[in-house]
Amino acid sequence: MDKFIDLHTHSTASDGTMTPSELVRHAKEAGLSALALTDHDTTDGIDEALEEGKKSGVEVIAGVEINVDFTPDSEMHLLGYFFEDNYKNLEPLLKRLKASREERNPKMIKKLNELGFDISLEEVRREAKDKLVGRPHIASVLVKKGYFKKISDVFNKYISAGRPAYVKREKLLPKEAIEEIVRCGGIPVLAHPIYISLTAMAELRALIHELRGYGLKGIEAFYSDNTPYDTILFLKLAIEYNLIPTGGSDFHGDLKPHIMLGTGRGDLHVPYKILEKLKELAKRKD
Ligand code: AMP
Ligand code: ZN
Ligand code: FE
Ligand code: FE
Repeated sequence: MDKFIDLHTHSTASDGTMTPSELVRHAKEAGLSALALTDHDTTDGIDEALEEGKKSGVEVIAGVEINVDFTPDSEMHLLGYFFEDNYKNLEPLLKRLKASREERNPKMIKKLNELGFDISLEEVRREAKDKLVGRPHIASVLVKKGYFKKISDVFNKYISAGRPAYVKREKLLPKEAIEEIVRCGGIPVLAHPIYISLTAMAELRALIHELRGYGLKGIEAFYSDNTPYDTILFLKLAIEYNLIPTGGSDFHGDLKPHIMLGTGRGDLHVPYKILEKLKELAKRKD
């Protein structure tokens, strides 16, 4: 039987709604052979996920997702994999990123208050269960209070880059993030390239070439929100730039209710073979 995996997931340690152990058990139920935990800017869920992985017989990969600075109106995210034995190396960087969120959050709440929304930082912190606060937690509070129907409506109208309540936070440059992931013993992969909002192919090629030069090793070619055309394009780019095409759902539980673990919107299938390729690369590095 073919084995399938999911290399992009979030737990309650960041903005997912399942605890790391619930997530691993859910992967088991969904029939996945392996799961990477890739919380935003935190490795706090890793110990629990690794432990549950041993109990449930699911191979757990310790990862992280880091948002980096690119153009003002687009999102570039990097994934890092294989921090099982060395995720503590990431601590100084993650501390800095956490501080940048703590500086941003009250500013966003203030803007939302000025725009007429009744929302406080305490409510948002509670929504994040006193763990890392992300914009989806802010959105979730506004949905629960009845201002919006869906989380994505809050993003589209108010909190996406360039919208009225958005506040930019300090982020690493792509080069710094890639080099830091490598320095800490991880394998850097470009997440969901569709969100980079590069319309010109020439620009996307130039970008991937540049990131490859900094040490990028993979590109997330299989992703929940891709069209089949996107997937083919990213697979082609992976071949062209000698990158491993990876894949994952970006599962967040109830915060992205339309995305299922492993299968995304229903048709995502990431073969185990991809993980084998990543592992070969991780070994070759030592
Ligand atoms: P932050 O970590 O605070 O920058 O927030 C990033 C999170 O917001 C990620 O989980 C994204 O998936 C989510 N996100 C970004 N844009 C949107 C959107 N338009 N709709 C829903 N979620 C989004
Ligand atoms: Zn998220
Ligand atoms: Fe992301
Ligand atoms: Fe993600």
